[in-house]
Amino acid sequence: MTGPQLGRPRDGIREVADGVMMITRAVTNSYLVTTDDDILLIDAGLPRSWSLLTHALTALRATPDDLVSVLLTHGHFDHVGTLDRLQREHHVPIHVHPADAPLVRHPYRYDRESSRGLYPLAHPGGIPNLARMTFAGALGVRGVEAHGDLRAGEPTLGGLLPVATPGHTYGHLAFHLADRDLVFSGDALVTFDPTRDDRGRRSWLVRPPPTAGRR
Ligand SMILES: [Zn+2]
Repeated sequence: MTGPQLGRPRDGIREVADGVMMITRAVTNSYLVTTDDDILLIDAGLPRSWSLLTHALTALRATPDDLVSVLLTHGHFDHVGTLDRLQREHHVPIHVHPADAPLVRHPYRYDRESSRGLYPLAHPGGIPNLARMTFAGALGVRGVEAHGDLRAGEPTLGGLLPVATPGHTYGHLAFHLADRDLVFSGDALVTFDPTRDDRGRRSWLVRPPPTAGRR
């Protein structure tokens, strides 16, 4: 979702719009969205996002059992960290674009534009962020089976409209919530790069864009 601030987000829970709570843990965000009848979760953070998620639900006088569904922008490990527990202990349905369902099953098996294995050496400023993500469970995310039934242009739960935004992953979706004039953009729009400790808008692509001038 586009937000009013750029830079490293602090851990915690913030109401960022009417009926929308942003949960931030180790530079990952997820969103609780309340509609007339339901509470939805958009993206699922890291495993240790769990306590903030339950706190946010408690503030809504709810529990994980009250979540009607999780909608995923995409299947990267830092967006699916609490799914295993939500599904196993609370039977919450999980929905994603079909092209990202294999990624939700295997959250570390993803294509990327370039290897980040040496990033900590090239960008040591990112090391504290990577450490925070690791402490929040980033290396222990379990894949789950999700319903690969979200389609761009077909409204889904809560009146959310999936919008095709492939590039970061093959099946990346944004979600438009028209009644509150909001777009949840997932990683199609990144405002902080934890690997470089770098602020500013950028995109991470699964494939490099075509070389300029190529015919
Ligand atoms: Zn991602």
